[in-house]
Amino acid sequence: MHNTDPPGKEKKMKPTTCYRCGARLKQAKVKMEGVELKCLRCQECGEELFTAGEMLRYEVLTGKSPARKFFTAGNSVAIRIPASIVKKKEIRPGKDLAVFDVMPKGLLIKVIHTDEDRS
Ligand SMILES: [Zn+2]
Repeated sequence: MHNTDPPGKEKKMKPTTCYRCGARLKQAKVKMEGVELKCLRCQECGEELFTAGEMLRYEVLTGKSPARKFFTAGNSVAIRIPASIVKKKEIRPGKDLAVFDVMPKGLLIKVIHTDEDRS
């Protein structure tokens, strides 16, 4: 299984030939752990190529990447932060702030630590 997108690089062009044997690729669907994924499959050697988006979808749906559903709390849309991220970023509920940056591919949440108990 190979990712067709080089890391950190936007690529709009889809590969049309196999990087291993040079044969034509054809759109196909595969089922992995109950998740149906679109891929490009080599007609000759059977190599399957997945886009980064499809890989992420697979990781989220199989629980390999932490994913949380948005929900409403009063008039606001809220999201629960996975405990592993809270620990890693040392988020202190009731004290720290979250600021948001809208990015082309999603949302960046910056954690601002308040200094009230650090002085
Ligand atoms: Zn091939």
